[in-house]
Amino acid sequence: MSLQNPTLVLNCGSSSIKYALISEDGETRIEGLAEALGNADARIKHKNLDGSKVEINIPNSGAHTEALKIILGELIGEYKPVAVGHRVVHGGDKFTKATKINAEVLAHIEELASLAPLHNPANAAGIKAINELFPQLPQVAIFDTAFHQTMPAHAYRYAIPKALYEEHHIRRYGFHGTSHAYVSNRASQLTTKDGKHGWIVAHLGNGCSATAVYDGQSLDTSMGITPLEGLMMGTRSGDVDPSLHALLNRTLGLSIGEIDTLLNKQSGLLGVSGISNDMRNLEQADKDGNQDATLALDMFAYRVAKYILGYTAALPELTGVVFTGGIGENGAEMRAKIVTHLKHLGAKFDTAKNAQLFRGAEGSFHTADSALEFWVIPTDEEYQIAKETKEVLGL
Ligand code: ADP
Repeated sequence: MSLQNPTLVLNCGSSSIKYALISEDGETRIEGLAEALGNADARIKHKNLDGSKVEINIPNSGAHTEALKIILGELIGEYKPVAVGHRVVHGGDKFTKATKINAEVLAHIEELASLAPLHNPANAAGIKAINELFPQLPQVAIFDTAFHQTMPAHAYRYAIPKALYEEHHIRRYGFHGTSHAYVSNRASQLTTKDGKHGWIVAHLGNGCSATAVYDGQSLDTSMGITPLEGLMMGTRSGDVDPSLHALLNRTLGLSIGEIDTLLNKQSGLLGVSGISNDMRNLEQADKDGNQDATLALDMFAYRVAKYILGYTAALPELTGVVFTGGIGENGAEMRAKIVTHLKHLGAKFDTAKNAQLFRGAEGSFHTADSALEFWVIPTDEEYQIAKETKEVLGL
């Protein structure tokens, strides 16, 4: 195992930092998580190169800078990263690809906090901490939104007055771009079909989104100006009637803030089942005869299938569907439920092959006579961020 010229990948949240140090070939990596930053019990859970684990408390209630000082010092200091790739959630319409960070780029990322108030300030804090501690290290921002900047206007515009778009950048942006880019590219490597490929990627984790990708370009995606739009998720409602805000306010007196919390944190699988946002718990409850769990699972599958069928309209040709994310990668029962809705597309799948795809397995489960392919591809956002970081820097 060698870790020469590694890239450090950082995903900075408001109270956490996920990090991965990745070798040039992407095969070797050291990973960890700093959590509870800002609290007295701030700590780092770190996995060494040999797989052994350590947990360290961070003194001074652990702001981002304190945590990164320890991570880049005693934990990975000996490996000397050549660059840092940051996951940045919102790139607005300014950033259409991964971008080397300088003062101007950082300022734009901070400005875009108006579109991603929870995420962009935390991403910026991580960038500033590296600037302070290791000013010589080149940094690159990889935006969740950038991959979707190839969407045509008829997919990214909302049907609302155009001044809102022209003056205030109100449009659909989409998220999970790094994941959609990675798995669609990987599917094109794996298929035996020649020519250009049209994929519909279903990224199904706690957050869920579907994307239509043709010849490596995103043509439509289900999340919008925020990650609430589109599919039903763990705790997010996905699509609802946009008048719901006004109605809930009028009839129940809920404030805009309360409705936002309700739709983002108390809805989705959790809201419908009343049990859990975790697919595994719902599948168990369904087997135990809980009808709310059954309905939550049926709604989840039906809504994913509706998006898949809808996105056939976006693609010049359809090669297949790719499943990824915790549910997409592991949930064979849910995949089967979704694919069963696609019969009018000529979809046929192999039940035994589907059941074998979980816990990091990569493979297909369509039958030889299916009109479209079905792939399960574990996502690897860290690898994709490291790859794009090196491409931008010419390393
Ligand atoms: P995040 O979006 O937070 O990164 P993940 O991609 O890890 O989330 O996905 C979490 C989801 O994956 C949860 O709903 C979890 O229940 C689901 N999941 C994990 N393992 C399985 C499994 N074996 N079967 C079904 N669902 C699973």
